[in-house]
Amino acid sequence: MDIQSHYGLFIDGSFRSARSGDTVSVHAPAGGRELSRVAAAAEEDVEDAVAAAAQEWPAWWARPAVERAQVLAAVGDRIVANRETLARIETLDTGRVIAETRFDIDAIADLFHYFAGVIRSDEETLKRHDPQQMSMVLREPFGVVGAIVPWNFPFLISGWKLAPALAAGNAVVIKPATLTPLSLLALAEITADILPPGLLNVLPGSGRVCGEAILAHSGIAKLSFTGSTEVGRHVAAKAAERVIPVTLELGGKSANIVFPDADYDRALEAAAMAIMMSQGQVCSAGSRLLVHEEIHDRFVADLAELCRTISIGDPLDEATRMGPMVSQDQRDSVLEYVKLGTTEGATIATGGDAPTGGPDGIYDTGPYLNPTILTGVTPEMRVCREEIFGPVLVVQRFTDAADGIALANNSAYGLAGAVWTRDISVALEVAQAVRTGTVWVNDYHPVPSGSPFGGFGQSGYGREVHKASLDGYSQLKTIYINTDRGGYGWYR
Ligand code: NAP
Ligand code: MG
Repeated sequence: MDIQSHYGLFIDGSFRSARSGDTVSVHAPAGGRELSRVAAAAEEDVEDAVAAAAQEWPAWWARPAVERAQVLAAVGDRIVANRETLARIETLDTGRVIAETRFDIDAIADLFHYFAGVIRSDEETLKRHDPQQMSMVLREPFGVVGAIVPWNFPFLISGWKLAPALAAGNAVVIKPATLTPLSLLALAEITADILPPGLLNVLPGSGRVCGEAILAHSGIAKLSFTGSTEVGRHVAAKAAERVIPVTLELGGKSANIVFPDADYDRALEAAAMAIMMSQGQVCSAGSRLLVHEEIHDRFVADLAELCRTISIGDPLDEATRMGPMVSQDQRDSVLEYVKLGTTEGATIATGGDAPTGGPDGIYDTGPYLNPTILTGVTPEMRVCREEIFGPVLVVQRFTDAADGIALANNSAYGLAGAVWTRDISVALEVAQAVRTGTVWVNDYHPVPSGSPFGGFGQSGYGREVHKASLDGYSQLKTIYINTDRGGYGWYR
């Protein structure tokens, strides 16, 4: 398997053109070459995909859990068998470095195995109210799930939705982002002989056309969206109109809080990784660094120095730590924020611009950006409140745990964050007080299978990566049974 020069829409188990014949060109951020031409779905294609999914899910759901588990495990194994190719496709399509994309592939292979286990161990219940009256509580799928994913982690985020949705007995119609559809199409290709036709339908296409058609389709009974808060709000409004549930994983502005007793070198390296990984295009990025006043100046100076040594370049090169941004537009938007930050009164401690030249002139061939740190940042500044979604860290100083917690919680978002200290009392005080879905202690970013991941506040609702996400893709049914005999007693 490798990237195909053309991809159709994946509907009912095979690739075919969009009914309109429309296609979109997909480019590599690094170097800019065309990777593939991909069909662009519109309303009539969504119609076909939902029909195929609606046709298939009852049979899938009727299969014994052990068989569905075997299919999910086979998908996991197939992902493992194609690890290098999938990682390479993801790196070419997103610009993210190969070590990171390999990690995503492994995580999703594992998640399919995890949910294979979950559905074998999930027990439906019987409740005995009295000897003649009992209730069975069954878990049933919604039927057809509509999923929409963003461009930053296309494979990982798709897997976070597909594994539990399929495990719960649904069929899925999923739309990748226009910029990065390739790894999801590759997943459809390599699992076409494992998944029954119609169970997984992949519809690349624009948000405005294909996305809106998914939101509006009456055959879709559950929506799952990851992306910006702005589009997420629209998705929720559409779901409300149709009275269907929605899972929302939205943006973030997560606080990474460093106390003076932390393991200094480890905290320093992690603070850089937390924001610069994937060029900062990570919803849970540690984009606000809060440093205790006792070590603030030294920590920031050392961090700026460290950031200047990060190797930026070809994302397929094993030694590279940062590749290009996903697009020129994304780089422009990030540079606008840097300009805004300086207008608001922040100081650029390092970066703030694009590298030029470089080995073989590589920096002139893609939307590369230098790791950037803004200091002297205050909570009212837009650069401190809004998600920049690039390699831009804003730094604030704090005085004590209460002050650190207050600064961390001064955000509309609530996705993640971290605390660095050797004092377990401080770690647990801060971790419990921070209003976010995940808090790492002396670490940043790990989300192993079995860790509920999702947001508080404007970061969305619903949880993924954990067996609890089965609840998001199924509905409980009560079957109430009365074995009494004789008269019912209502008229007497
Ligand atoms: P986005 O603009 O919200 O787009 C996300 C997806 O929605 C894309 O597939 C997009 O299609 C589609 N879309 C856009 N407008 C739509 C509409 N009117 N109706 C239906 N679908 C529509 O986000 P993005 O720019 O791709 O990604 C960056 C954002 O995602 C950041 O804010 C980031 O924090 C967030 N994010 C959150 C998480 C999380 O787990 N919490 C993970 C990753 C990213 P097109 O590609 O055609 O525009
Ligand atoms: Mg967008």
